[in-house]
Amino acid sequence: MAVGVHRNAQVIVNRAALYHNIHSEYERLDHGTRLFMVVKANGYGHGAVEVAKVAKKAGASGFCVAILDEALELRKAGLQDPILVLGLTDLNAVPVAAKEHVSLTVSSAKWLQKAAQLLRKQSIKDPLRVHIGLDTGMGRIGFQTQTGLKQALKAIKQDHNQLDFEGIFTHFATADSPDDKYFKLQVNRFNKLMEVVKPRPKFVHVSNSATSLWHQKCNGNMIRYGAAGYGLNPSAGALKPPFKLEPAMTVTTELSYVKLVKPGRSIGYGATYTTGDDQWIGTVPIGYADGFHRNLKGFHVLIDGQFCPVIGQVCMDQFMVRLPHQMEPGTKVTIIGKDGDKEISLQDMADYSHTIHYEIACGFTERLPRKYI
Ligand code: PLP
Repeated sequence: MAVGVHRNAQVIVNRAALYHNIHSEYERLDHGTRLFMVVKANGYGHGAVEVAKVAKKAGASGFCVAILDEALELRKAGLQDPILVLGLTDLNAVPVAAKEHVSLTVSSAKWLQKAAQLLRKQSIKDPLRVHIGLDTGMGRIGFQTQTGLKQALKAIKQDHNQLDFEGIFTHFATADSPDDKYFKLQVNRFNKLMEVVKPRPKFVHVSNSATSLWHQKCNGNMIRYGAAGYGLNPSAGALKPPFKLEPAMTVTTELSYVKLVKPGRSIGYGATYTTGDDQWIGTVPIGYADGFHRNLKGFHVLIDGQFCPVIGQVCMDQFMVRLPHQMEPGTKVTIIGKDGDKEISLQDMADYSHTIHYEIACGFTERLPRKYI
């Protein structure tokens, strides 16, 4: 996808906000607990490499990504810190991961055996660093039983020249909820599974942002810190964070066209909006291909410190807004962020779209350049 450098539309990322959100949590951690910044999905849309660089300064000693290619992007940018791939990786990619010292999540004893075989066959000297995933109730990946886990531990022991047992972890499904019943069930399952893990590996980790913010006692010796680092409250406001989270992302553009429309004229695909009187209509040059979802019809943007409603259907590359009065093309439009005393947060947009702010943040596409302040 081409990056739109010739149009005034961008995602602006505030490095000081990232630093504040990461460093504030880092300072709360018990001595010796590491913070790995989760920078998957292009750093939740903020730009993985830049976020990683700020995170390092703020105390992060490693990174988590979802797929190996995201780890390689960081390596290519010169970041030599530990990186854990949280998703499962194809066996074919094992040699690359080993050579690049990227740690992989493991969910099958057979996979471990095959990975070791492959490394031997290709005479790769670097062992593959592995973190065993435990499924304690997320129902996604990982071992559910002591039997399965023991098989994995045996496979690692047998092939210890090729496999470096670096970590073990689980992921909580409800750490962001005021009701901790299911969370406690997962903690108990985790502790039960861990009874067979002797000796323990270097990293034992269970915490995403929500767990570290609200259940810090569980942390283990490493946290996988994502949403809160970007200034997003993982509980969507249901729980209060222990320090103020500063949203790091702003999205701005400008009016590309302004016109006075006579009564009875329709706007946009499907002619779903018809003017009832003389109205000033502005055109905004971003659309659903930029991550401004089609279901944001009826939502608003900020122009000149005022909320202006999105009218008609959002198009792929443009949408229209109703203006309170005549404005000049080139007037600033705030999609996410503050203008005067008003603000549109990722949470506001997510609520309107019936989704979560995570999805909105990582949904702003590559076409919008990322600018760092
Ligand atoms: N750990 C795992 C396994 C994840 O999948 C994620 C995010 O989806 C995180 C940690 C980070 O979670 P959060 O962004 O809520 O901090």
